[in-house]
Amino acid sequence: MTHRIVVVGGGAGGLELATRLGRTLGKRGKAAITLVDAHLTHLWKPLLHEVAAGSLNSSENELNYVAQAKWNHFEFQIGRLCGLDRAAQRIALAATFDEAGIELVPARTLPYDSLVIAVGSITNDFGIAGAAEHCVFLDTPVHAERFHHQLLRHYLRAHAREGAHQHISVAIVGAGATGVELAAELRHAAQQLTAYGLSGIAPQDMRITLIEAGPKVLPALLERVSEPAHQTLKKLGITVFTSSPVKEVAADSLKMADGSVIFASLKVWAAGIRAPAFLNNLDGLESNRIGQLVVRPTLQTTLDDNIFALGDCAACPLGDGRQNVPPRAQAAHQQAALLVKSMQLRLNDRPLPPYRYRDYGSLVSLSRFSAVGNLMGNLMGSIKLEGWLARMFYLSLYRMHQIVLYGAFRTALLMLSDRIGRSTEPRLKLH
Ligand SMILES: Cc1cc2nc3c(=O)[nH]c(=O)nc-3n(C[C@H](O)[C@H](O)[C@H](O)COP(=O)(O)OP(=O)(O)OC[C@H]3O[C@@H](n4cnc5c(N)ncnc54)[C@H](O)[C@@H]3O)c2cc1C
Repeated sequence: MTHRIVVVGGGAGGLELATRLGRTLGKRGKAAITLVDAHLTHLWKPLLHEVAAGSLNSSENELNYVAQAKWNHFEFQIGRLCGLDRAAQRIALAATFDEAGIELVPARTLPYDSLVIAVGSITNDFGIAGAAEHCVFLDTPVHAERFHHQLLRHYLRAHAREGAHQHISVAIVGAGATGVELAAELRHAAQQLTAYGLSGIAPQDMRITLIEAGPKVLPALLERVSEPAHQTLKKLGITVFTSSPVKEVAADSLKMADGSVIFASLKVWAAGIRAPAFLNNLDGLESNRIGQLVVRPTLQTTLDDNIFALGDCAACPLGDGRQNVPPRAQAAHQQAALLVKSMQLRLNDRPLPPYRYRDYGSLVSLSRFSAVGNLMGNLMGSIKLEGWLARMFYLSLYRMHQIVLYGAFRTALLMLSDRIGRSTEPRLKLH
């Protein structure tokens, strides 16, 4: 019988894996590849802050799983993974409903010989009271669009009441890459909204506050990267608080651990990640403190050779015995590439290679204003990049993801169509 490979989660890692497996094993009939995702379309997650600010129209950058499956020799099934029977080698998928609550696809089970779990991560609010109720989490395009609509509503209301001096306050909790990128993107959005005539709120009257519990912005990056980022944020008029843990969130404010209060009408929580809760008890698979599935260097889960995990939902040892591979798109991409080889070897009963994380550096976008980061190489060590060049490297990361999914020729056509779109459409999504 044909070997059944089921990949659950069509994100940065899972979609690349299903596509590459389809083009190789699927096309040659060596394995039957099925991709399962809770949604019908894929948007590369590092674009979500741009969707939230309105600089990117999510529907123009989404990939449809059904079409991708047809073109790349795999099958797509819509459904949310909700259970696992390891003994029977079956996963359980919950029923899918439309916006009106009408059942579209019933609950069902799906058999596998090899299972790859790639369901990503969600925002971690660390149990801070009020965070889930009053903050936007940037976990999905729907969340990002919800924030964008809230922002637009403030501007439309202010525009209708023109004459009075008005402002909007936005607080972002977490000055990691997501928080920093969102803050800069919002400053750009404020300038564009005024340029398009929504003039009730002047650009400097979008008051953006970035709050970080740790001692510096971009805590995971080197000082020589985080310091220029901090300086650029200051130049953009963004208020940055470091060493400032949030204690509680209310509808109109954030209560800080030192007793102070920061008022904000729009609040985004971008302070950390954890794996989706259902992984914590998935037929006994081992998970860690933040719910990630613990995997061996081969990316096989510790208790089941037939089940692999990759990307943000996997706790993969970094090799120093203390840390895990960081939750980044580049790690998900590398792990997907390794599992393409591993699946081929598995079909031939050959031993599987270990995954070794290669850190190519980190780049943080500061919207159209700049970018900052460092690139790593074997010979050159770590090179700091800033400004236009850093921004070009940053933009190339998304293009590399597109090349894996569409091939170089179609990616070039997409780049051309983006360029044409930019000259015929507003710079900011205004609906
Ligand atoms: C705003 C933002 C900016 C970022 N910027 C960068 C950056 O510049 N560089 C970088 O390296 N990383 C960045 N990241 C992190 C990066 O996006 C993630 O590390 C990466 O997307 C992880 O890939 P993944 O395949 O593990 O999961 P994801 O890409 O999150 O994909 C998970 C998929 O699983 C699906 N899914 C979830 N639950 C289920 C379920 N129960 N059943 C079925 N399907 C399910 C989802 O619909 C989704 O398609 C950023 C993240 C954010 C939020």
